[in-house]
Formats: sequence, structure tokens, C-alpha cells
Amino acid sequence: MTSTTHPQQTDAVTEHYDAVVVGAGVSGMYALLHLRGMGLSVRTYDGAPRIGGTWWYNRYPGARVDGPSAPLYGYTFSDELVKEWDWTETQSSQPEVLSYLDHFADRFDLRRDIELDTRVDDARYDEATQRWTIETGTGRCVSAAFLICAVGALSTPNTPDIHGIDDFGGRCLHTGHWPEEPVSFEGKRVGVIGTGSSGIQVIPEIAKEAAHVTVFQRTPQYTVPARNRPLKAEELALVRDNWEMVKAGMMAPPAADAALPMAPGNGRSPFEETPEQRHALYQELWEQGTLAFVYGNYAELLVNEEINREVCAFLQGKIREIVDDPDTAEKLIPDHFYGTKRPILDSGYYETYNRDNVTLVDLREDPIEEMTRAGVRTVMGEHPIDMLVLATGFDAISGSMLRLDPMGRGGIRLKEKWESRYHNYLGLMISDFPNLFMIHGPGTPGVLYLMPLGAELETEWIANCLRHMSERGLGAVEPTHEAELAWDEEVSALAEKTLFPRTDSWYTGANIPGKPRHFSVHVGGPAYFHRIAEIAEQGYEGFAFAPATSVGSNDREEDS
Ligand code: NAP
Repeated sequence: MTSTTHPQQTDAVTEHYDAVVVGAGVSGMYALLHLRGMGLSVRTYDGAPRIGGTWWYNRYPGARVDGPSAPLYGYTFSDELVKEWDWTETQSSQPEVLSYLDHFADRFDLRRDIELDTRVDDARYDEATQRWTIETGTGRCVSAAFLICAVGALSTPNTPDIHGIDDFGGRCLHTGHWPEEPVSFEGKRVGVIGTGSSGIQVIPEIAKEAAHVTVFQRTPQYTVPARNRPLKAEELALVRDNWEMVKAGMMAPPAADAALPMAPGNGRSPFEETPEQRHALYQELWEQGTLAFVYGNYAELLVNEEINREVCAFLQGKIREIVDDPDTAEKLIPDHFYGTKRPILDSGYYETYNRDNVTLVDLREDPIEEMTRAGVRTVMGEHPIDMLVLATGFDAISGSMLRLDPMGRGGIRLKEKWESRYHNYLGLMISDFPNLFMIHGPGTPGVLYLMPLGAELETEWIANCLRHMSERGLGAVEPTHEAELAWDEEVSALAEKTLFPRTDSWYTGANIPGKPRHFSVHVGGPAYFHRIAEIAEQGYEGFAFAPATSVGSNDREEDS
């Protein structure tokens, strides 16, 4: 890093970097490590007091990886890291994931380039210098040739606009912004709004401690047992001993004609099996628990209405079987296609409604009117509570980029650019925002793939692009508008093959009032990474590069 001055930039700029990374979560820390390894000067900023991103903020009781079993939720690039970190459970708990990320940061000496408690307030591109000016809430003003936005796909909490919420006399907590100190529910009457992954994880834990829990449910959800258990030493050894093969499996795309673009399914055709055989499979997968219920199922599950409805009927039967009170069971029965909202794994969620201290309020028949000082008033009456837990999710995928709201070429703000659609190319770049890269942005498989591995692969693509520019004396890159439109069509066409877009979910933005409804996730899974690699190999088709201007010409040589 140098303190070279760039004539077009404000005098307030005190430091110049090759790259600034926004966010010190799973993606941001990997980007820092990788780009620094190329000899670039990199600075990372994060508003949180500690590293970890979403794993720092989502510290509510019961939070754990509700996806692939350990060690698949972890970085893959370092065999040593894979070998030395002993995951203890199949679905790692939030404290364990955070410890792992702390270990990662220490092992690779990342902290010296991370500034915590430092939220990026603004980022503006200057065409003359081909650089970004970044301002932080702590008064820092720095410049960077490249802005890497690792701001998280699920990190901007959604706080519902409930009349009177600020007048509530008790404590109000959000699962996505949980306090650092332990929270006691003992003897308390607790209200929980929200029954997505976070609500379904936190409700059973609160119910074990609180005097009473009232769950305010707007949309019932399907959930499958997580069956979390200690990871056996031999299971970990098996993965470690076959790491290359395991990793290759994580990146292998399904055949081009696979029913579901993102996953191969179990290789069986539901149409060649009897209803009894299919039911036996669902039962087997239910007993197995985990996301095997999706990935070990028929590939048709997420594309075929008939098969999906059969799976829904199976799961509805489970709810009626588990929940003692028939009225409560009926309120818990979902009516959307299974899997088209993020599949949820639980540890005793439906069983929690058999407890004497848990009540379910169905907001569809009894909506919230307002919060009062003493509780929640619904149409049918008042529910007195001492504490309110909002498990109301996130302004997902695009929300954190919009919160950052960078200013691109010609003074355009991202909020303007993304007013009706999240224009981007490959989920990585946005036209009019040169040299800005996103990790897990809209248009990537992000939330439908392995987040750590996805972050590695996207970062590596970005790094290759920077290398390509450096070798050719190029100073700016951005996609063309045409490439963005074509990409949007490609992502949408893939999604249209599935049932995903037909359900209101945070994938479609339907959870946020006023947000454009658009399914913005690439459902190609590993095929996405092959696609973006192919585009790079073909000379970065769809991107426009500009030669380095003399004023902006990168600090890289001077810096290193
Ligand atoms: P979510 O899935 O969006 O669920 C939010 C819940 O709040 C939904 O039940 C929603 O109802 C309800 N809600 C929102 N606004 C409301 C309002 N105004 N009134 C009443 N109810 C309202 O959010 P999440 O549970 O935090 O999960 C988000 C994602 O984060 C997950 O899908 C998952 O990918 C990730 N996550 C991962 C983990 C993990 O790996 N450990 C844990 C938690 C979350 P509607 O359905 O009607 O909108």
C-alpha cells in the first residue's frame, strides 16, 4: 500500500489500495486472503465488532448450519485447514462456525487488514482516475482500484412496520441482529413473529426456558428433522482422506438434461415407481433428516407439480401425526410447493406445539393490528408479552447492496439502477459500476449452493479478471447493457423450469413490501461456475474493458 495521491480525488482521501473489500464474513475474508495472495494491497471494512458477518449477527439460541453437514460448510481451498479443524456436529452450531472463522482469520493472518466497527457509508466511482472513493462511518476516506462487495445475501434484517412497535414496553430483539450478551427468557412471556428458518430454530429453544411463548405465524412452513448429532471421527476421516473426490463432487454439475438444473437428484424416476415405493423413499429420507430430503429425493421434486404435491401431502401427514391438537396442526399446514421457500431443518419444531407453554396465533385469520405497551393486539384480542423476538428475516440477496448504494459512472446510484430489476452480469458485475465486483450477488447461485465454496469460486473468477487486466494494462471493466439483459433472460429461463418462482419467498423479494418481485437466484448450481469460467476463457465476452488512464493507473506496481 502507498499513499500516492490521485489528482482527481478529493484531498480527504488518506490511503490508496488496490482493492477494498466490504464485509468480513465468509466471503469477504476469503476475498481478502486471495487478493492479498496475488500481491495486491487490500483493506477490508466491516461494521460489526467482530469478524464472521452473518455468523456474528445471527447468534440467537438454536442457530446452526441448516444445510450440508460438516465439513461441507467450510472453505475447501486449503487441505491443511480441512485436516486441522475438527467439526464436532453434523449441523455445526453458530458458536462453532464463528470459532472456525476466528481460526481461519488467525491462521491466515487476516486481522491486520480488517477494520472492524467500521461501516462503509459511501462508495463513489471516479471515471477519470478509474478508482473508487470509499468513506466509512468512522471518518476514513480511502481509494481503491477495485471495490469488492462481500456484503452478504442474508444480512440486512427485515424489521416489520407494525403500528406501535416503538411503544412496546418490553425488550424487542431481532434474530438477525442478536445481542452479544446472553439473553434470559426465564419467567418471561415471549412473543415470536416469524416462522422461517430462524423462527423454527429459535422457537423450541425459547420454549424450553420461557414462562410462555406466543408464536405469531403469517405463513406456515414445512420443516424436516435436522437429526443433528455428533460427527464421528471416522466420518470426518473419510471425508478428509477422500477430499479431492469430495470436492470434485461438490463442483460437478448435473447432466445437461437433468430434470433439475442445480442437482442430479437420486437417479430414480418417480414415474417408474409405485406410490408405495415413492412413499417409502419419503419416509426413508424423513428418517435420515438433513437436506437429504431435497437432494436425495427425485430430481422432479422441484420441477414437477404432481410429485411436489405428493411430497407436500407426506409432510402434511407428519405434521398431523406429530402435533397433538388438531386445530393447531391445521394452522401449521403449509400450502406452497415444498422446497420453493428455503427448505428448513429443525430440532423438535412441530413437537414444541405440544407443550403447555406454547400458543400459535394464525395471522391469516387473526392479523396483528398493533403493538401496545403490554403486548400484541390482533383482531381477536390482546396477547400480553414481556419480550418480542422478530424472526422476520432479511431484505435478502439485493438488500445489502442497496443499503450500500454505491455511486457509479455519471453519478448513478445503485438504488436508481436497480429500481425495478437487479441488472447485473453473471451476478458479479453491474454496468455503469466499473471495477465493482459482487460476491453472492443477485444472479449467482449464492443461497442455493454451498456459500463458502461459492465465495471461493466467485473470488477466483474475480482474481483471474484482475490478472487479465493487469497483464494487458487495462484500468476499468464493466459489463455491457446487452450482456446484462441476456444474462437476466438466462437466469430467468432456468428458474422458469422449476417451481421456485411460483411461490412468494425471500428468493423472489415477496417478503419485503414494495420490492420488485423477481426470482433472482441462478438455479444452475455448479453449472453456473462452469458457465462463468467459459465466459472468461472466451475472452470475457459481454464485458467492456478500458485502458488504464495515466492518473488512475493502478498502484499495484508502485504499491507492492
Ligand atoms: P424468512 O425465511 O424470511 O422468514 C421470516 C418469517 O417472518 C416468515 O415466516 C415471514 O412470513 C415472517 N414475517 C416477515 N414479516 C412479517 C410481518 N410483517 N408479519 C408477520 N410475519 C412476518 O427469514 P429467516 O427465518 O431469518 O431465514 C432467512 C434465511 O436465512 C433462511 O431461509 C436461510 O437461508 C438463512 N438462515 C440460515 C440459517 C442457518 O443456516 N443456520 C438459520 C437461519 C436462517 P412470510 O413467510 O409470510 O413472509
